[in-house]
Amino acid sequence: MKQITSDVYLMKMAQTDSRAPQVNVYFLKNEKLLIDAGPDNYPCYLELQQNLKSLGINLKQVSVVITHHHPDHVGLLKYFPEETAVYADSGVRYYGTTAYLNAIEEQTQQLQILGIPPHAIDQIKAQLQKRFLPFLENVNFKDLNRLPVSSIRIHRLRGHSPADIVFQKDNFFFGGDLILKGIYFNVLLDIDPVNQKLCLLNQEYEQNIKKILTTFKIQTWCPGHGDSMNLSSLVKVNHKYQKLRQLIHQRITQSFSFSDYDSAVREIYSYFPRLNDYFYLSDILTVIK
Ligand SMILES: [Zn+2]
Repeated sequence: MKQITSDVYLMKMAQTDSRAPQVNVYFLKNEKLLIDAGPDNYPCYLELQQNLKSLGINLKQVSVVITHHHPDHVGLLKYFPEETAVYADSGVRYYGTTAYLNAIEEQTQQLQILGIPPHAIDQIKAQLQKRFLPFLENVNFKDLNRLPVSSIRIHRLRGHSPADIVFQKDNFFFGGDLILKGIYFNVLLDIDPVNQKLCLLNQEYEQNIKKILTTFKIQTWCPGHGDSMNLSSLVKVNHKYQKLRQLIHQRITQSFSFSDYDSAVREIYSYFPRLNDYFYLSDILTVIK
């Protein structure tokens, strides 16, 4: 565990898949608040308890806020005491319901209409099914608006996923996976818990990143993976993002005389048969939609 300020601590948690990146879990000592729970990896749970103990705190005294519903950020909740209060977007619980599983079946079928080959649809389905976490139904979720910690501001800024929240304490921003260094593009296909439809929030993402970079007085951005960043490195990351996006967009529009993305996706697919289609398709749609 690393101390960042007098109040903020960082724990880096390993995922069970060693190829997957470490996950940042932050602990605000004065508030007794964890920002994200971390991945489903029991040794991390034991380590978390130890770390809190070294600060004189018992896990039972701690509340949790969640930046988004992906398993690397909520998975560890599986082992928490059942009374632990967890403040998250109201949609997070949905990813533990059978309604979510049904929506995956229904929605991915519609990808066939876009001309996406069956093996790709299977990969997309598998990726979304990995995010089905039945234990979420037993988590003691609380309304985020009732978070009893006045030092924390809540910003609902969707884009990476349909449930993204940015938490602010003074000039520190805990942004989950909204802006990550070296990850392009991190707008991912997901099922929106509100209308239960497949979604890719690239337009909201653009707007929200702009808002973060222009209106927030960021001193330190604490991401869900990787090192913390100041405003100028955030701007650089976004600049690179925009440039890459433009380049790919150019390549696509130059290579195809048609403008509809259905045909573009169908054509482009034939060039990249070995990539994980889930991430690949998320990227293509981000660029050309
Ligand atoms: Zn993540």
